[in-house]
Amino acid sequence: MVNIAVTEVGEDLFLVDLHEAGRPFRSSAYIIRGPEPTLIETGSSNCFTYVADGLKTLGYAPVDLKHIVVTHVHLDHAGGAGRMMEAAPYAVLHANRRATPHLIDPTRLEAGSRAVYGSALESLFGAILPVPHDRVQVQEDGSILELGNGRRLTFYDTPGHAKHHSCIWDNVTRGIFSGDMVGIRYRFEGVGDNVIYGFPTTSPPDFDPEVMLASLDRLQAMNPNVIYHTHFGPTAPASEAFAFTRRGIFAIQQILDRLPDDATAQMAEEELRAYLSKDLEGRTHLDDLSDLALDIYLNAQGMIVYKQKKKAGKL
Ligand SMILES: [Zn+2]
Repeated sequence: MVNIAVTEVGEDLFLVDLHEAGRPFRSSAYIIRGPEPTLIETGSSNCFTYVADGLKTLGYAPVDLKHIVVTHVHLDHAGGAGRMMEAAPYAVLHANRRATPHLIDPTRLEAGSRAVYGSALESLFGAILPVPHDRVQVQEDGSILELGNGRRLTFYDTPGHAKHHSCIWDNVTRGIFSGDMVGIRYRFEGVGDNVIYGFPTTSPPDFDPEVMLASLDRLQAMNPNVIYHTHFGPTAPASEAFAFTRRGIFAIQQILDRLPDDATAQMAEEELRAYLSKDLEGRTHLDDLSDLALDIYLNAQGMIVYKQKKKAGKL
């Protein structure tokens, strides 16, 4: 297999496969070439060499980066922000107001992640290093980052997957860097790029289907051409990504309605697995859901946390 370090996905815009936890076609970072070289998403610390390779292919090194943007603090998006910032001494890290405290002091982030991933935390994501507070820039809803040559990134608060989530509009491509907000676009290894399946990511503790739908409405009203997912790559036309995410949220709401008040995450997982295996029938040559196993597990956890919060009136 040829190892292509970057793929051009738009004008001066390149995708890097982060090989998250050793898996290709799972997580993307994006590099914007120009007067102010910019990295969007760092992945975890374990992804560092892939980002460095991607930069090198474009004639850059981490030291050339002026901006590093993360959509939210989950480790597969920003777990490696501290490590990348060490290697990029001239870069500023940009994130949502609710995200920046966890990038500066990742103690709670690490504890919360350990509760979800247990002893697999280190092997999956590597170390989580703090970022000096004076190198972090809060990006408010609607705030603009100028990258020179007329390119502008605009940040939007987009809760629903996580309260500390921003989506970022790129005026040059009319694209949105969507993090985990406009679903996961699954590209199945061995089946190729022709078979695409999309489903929302509903991991704990913040998933809220109503809030997610409201954020989707807002993003869709911007009429983007393309969605740049973190997982994985671009969807164009963007309407396809909105459609598969909404469809999945509808399915999840139906499962949530069906489950009893005291349902366990295991029950949600079984329902989700049954739905997905039926939905994938005839769409791929897959005869099992192994590529989706971790997501099904996390989605089920998030669904139950939401259901319990809703029942307790804590939303
Ligand atoms: Zn993610």
